Amino acid sequence: MDFSLSKEQKEYRQVIIDFARNQLNDSDSLESFSPQVWEKISEFGLLGITVDEKYGGLNESYLTAAIVFEALGYGCENNGLIFMINNHIWVAQNLIYLYGSETLKEKYLEDMVAGKRIGSIAITEAESGSDAFGMTTQAVLDGEDYILNGTKMFISNGPIADIFIVFAVTEKEPKKKITAFVVEKQFLGVSTGADIEKMGLGACPTSEIILDQVRVPKENILGNFNSGSYILMGAIEWERFYEFVPHIGAMKRVIERCGRYAKERKQFGKSIEEYQAISHKIADMEIKLELARLMMYKIAWLKDNQRNAFKEVSMFKIFVSESYIKACRDAMQIFGAYGYTKEYGIEREMRDALASSIHSGTNEVLRNTVYKYI
Ligand SMILES: Cc1cc2nc3c(=O)[nH]c(=O)nc-3n(C[C@H](O)[C@H](O)[C@H](O)COP(=O)(O)OP(=O)(O)OC[C@H]3O[C@@H](n4cnc5c(N)ncnc54)[C@H](O)[C@@H]3O)c2cc1C
Repeated sequence: MDFSLSKEQKEYRQVIIDFARNQLNDSDSLESFSPQVWEKISEFGLLGITVDEKYGGLNESYLTAAIVFEALGYGCENNGLIFMINNHIWVAQNLIYLYGSETLKEKYLEDMVAGKRIGSIAITEAESGSDAFGMTTQAVLDGEDYILNGTKMFISNGPIADIFIVFAVTEKEPKKKITAFVVEKQFLGVSTGADIEKMGLGACPTSEIILDQVRVPKENILGNFNSGSYILMGAIEWERFYEFVPHIGAMKRVIERCGRYAKERKQFGKSIEEYQAISHKIADMEIKLELARLMMYKIAWLKDNQRNAFKEVSMFKIFVSESYIKACRDAMQIFGAYGYTKEYGIEREMRDALASSIHSGTNEVLRNTVYKYI
């Protein structure tokens, strides 16, 4: 087993860290989406990292993409922005790339890779969260189109997206079947609710998506008719990996901040790092960081070898989110009252981190998934 990174991967990582530090850490864009920052990201060329060059992508491996997104999580302090980017890439653009017909790819991919159109995924509804298959949004055939009706809830990128991957019920009996549709914001009958205020991830706006008699052409079915559950499982496999990879980078950033602070901060005549109660907290963060990264390498290898990684990504999502939340919680304790203030940014890291045990499937539900494999 070879854990060494290639020269190109190391260079790529450094380029991303420098770009993130120099271009993405503007404090004005932390709490709301910034079109200017999005333009910088689009121009940088990161969005099509695993997409074929034919559609303007870079055709990099999943491992390289993981290294790049870990680096982005490390260099970019705007966790909401990273969440926004990930929603665009992995659960919208990537689904069209992997499951879309050539017509759909030609229609949407190039614009999405270039950042001209923003994507998002719409599964959740007010009454169907963890029980995603309990959805009631419906699609009914009418001539050459499907008519969609329903309301989706908690849709990341909702207020700013141009393209939604919408899951809707297409057969109720004898067994419920769902289908994935590519829906454009400009289709008649599509509207979005107001930005839902959240406790964190401010740069990634969230809203309802309302579908009122929306006419969607048959060619906008993603994958096959009635095969939406297959695509949904694929989508959550990608999001449980790539939306959590940057948290490894964020943990590294938090660890380094804690290390520096613990060295500088003196109480009772010595640096607080000399108290094991402090240093062991940081050591525990480092142990979890290392384990999370090992899981990341394994999953990237599985995906580069076209293997299923559903169990692995479920474990990864639980482990990374809980390690990340614990790291932020301990960071706040290490920083004492300064950590609790807005000035040091630790409280924002904490607020951002807390979402990670809920979205992409709650950790409770994911533990059910892992147990099923046992
Ligand atoms: C920041 C953020 C971004 C999101 N972005 C999107 C998006 O872009 N698109 C989208 O479609 N959705 C999105 N969601 C919604 C997300 O997928 C749901 O929040 C998630 O699936 C859980 O659903 P729920 O919040 O309704 O909780 P519920 O399903 O109501 O669960 C409530 C509690 O009950 C527990 N629970 C439920 N069922 C079980 C069970 N079987 N066993 C054990 N415990 C259980 C849960 O773990 C949780 O603790 C987002 C959510 C957040 C927080």
